[in-house]
Amino acid sequence: MTIALYPGSFDPITNGHLDVATRAAKLFDKLIIGVYDKPDKNLLFTTKERVELASQAVANLPNVEVESFDELTVNFARKVKARALVRGLRINADFEREFDMAMMNKRLFPDLELVSFMATAQYQFLSSSLLKEVASLGGCIDDLVPVPVAAALRKKFPMQGKG
Ligand code: ADP
Repeated sequence: MTIALYPGSFDPITNGHLDVATRAAKLFDKLIIGVYDKPDKNLLFTTKERVELASQAVANLPNVEVESFDELTVNFARKVKARALVRGLRINADFEREFDMAMMNKRLFPDLELVSFMATAQYQFLSSSLLKEVASLGGCIDDLVPVPVAAALRKKFPMQGKG
C-alpha cells in the first residue's frame, strides 16, 4: 500500500489544494493531508479549525485522511509510513522554495520521493493568503473554496461577499 503525505498550512484549504489532493488520491492508495500546526505565518484559523475544514472538504474522498502535525515534515512522513511527499506548483510562486525544501527533505529522508502537481490553470493565482485578504475586504471568494470554508470565512469577516 503506497501512502503519500500532502503537508501544508491549509489556512484555509482552497479549491487549489483540493484539486491537488483529488488528483493525488487517484495515484496513491492513501493520501494524508498533514496540517502543519505551527507554520511561520500569521494564521487566521486554529489548527483544529484547519483540520476540520480540510476534513469536510475531502469527506467524499474515501482514501484521504487529515491529521495535524507539529514536527519536521520528514519525521511525520516516517511516522505515517509515507513513501511520497505531495506538493502543488504554481507558476512563479512556488518553484524556488519548493526546490530548496525538496533538496533538504531528500537529505533528511532519502527514500521519500517528492511528487509535485502542476496547479490547474484556473487555480494558478489562488493562495490562502490572497484569499484571506480579498475576503477580509469584502470580496466574494465563494467559487474558490469548498462551501464550509466560505461559511467559515464569512464568520470571520461578516462583510465577506458584500464587496
Ligand atoms: P505551505 O505553508 O507549506 O506553503 P500551503 O497551505 O500554502 O502550505 O500550501 C500547501 C501546498 O499546496 C504547497 O505545495 C503549495 O504550493 C500548494 N498549493 C497552494 N495553493 C495551490 C493552488 N492554488 N494550486 C495548487 N497547489 C497549491
